[in-house]
Amino acid sequence: MELDELYQDILLDHFKRPRNYGPLPDSEVLVDELNPTCGDHIRLAARLENGRVAEVRFDGKGCAISLASASMMSELMRGLTPQEARARAADFAAFMRGEKQIDPDTLGDLAALAGVRQFPLRIKCATMSWHAMEKALGKLGA
Ligand code: ZN
Repeated sequence: MELDELYQDILLDHFKRPRNYGPLPDSEVLVDELNPTCGDHIRLAARLENGRVAEVRFDGKGCAISLASASMMSELMRGLTPQEARARAADFAAFMRGEKQIDPDTLGDLAALAGVRQFPLRIKCATMSWHAMEKALGKLGA
């Protein structure tokens, strides 16, 4: 299988079966994030336990890149301290803007989003859920 096809498969898998996706009770919605240039809309809820991210859930509508990235983000954040989670989000945003390299071995499924860097208008699609997570941590006082 070609590398491009592999990445395409990973992306579509997260888009079709987003992890940690589902209805959120209104009381749990922490962040409502819009990406008007593409029409993406994500709502996010997060819960901390013992000083670590215990759960991240989201719902909403958006393009394949936005939902796949949110799905990957929701998996990667679990178990991190708020400080680690913020660092991870900042690193990913810098990576998507082409300002920072990340060791390909540590990218995991995120490698499937690397190609998006060639399309500046779509970068926000990939990073919006990560910004939403940073805002959620802020609202949780973490
Ligand atoms: Zn989008």
